[in-house]
Amino acid sequence: MNSALAVRNNAVAELIRQSDLPDNKRWKNRFKIHSETSGRVYIISQNKFHGHWGCSCMSWRVPKFCKIPGPNYGKYGRYCKHLTALGLPLFEQPYEVQRIRLK
Ligand SMILES: [Zn+2]
Repeated sequence: MNSALAVRNNAVAELIRQSDLPDNKRWKNRFKIHSETSGRVYIISQNKFHGHWGCSCMSWRVPKFCKIPGPNYGKYGRYCKHLTALGLPLFEQPYEVQRIRLK
């Protein structure tokens, strides 16, 4: 694991630590983010059963073809810019956030 990924993990770990949102039936590690463009508030959280990350924004909730160049290009699934910005994987890939001590 490279240090850039570790830094992003620490950022998400810190957002989870500071969050006061409780788990619900399907989602844990829930925290709020504020959209820079619309002022809306979205909730990012981890699926309890499958380990992937989701967002409450419309972009994530409606599966669509991926137009982002890279490994997911042309695939059909869930993704949004909020997960991308936090370094969380798209397309419902299981991913555990760990706080990594940087040397
Ligand atoms: Zn989103």
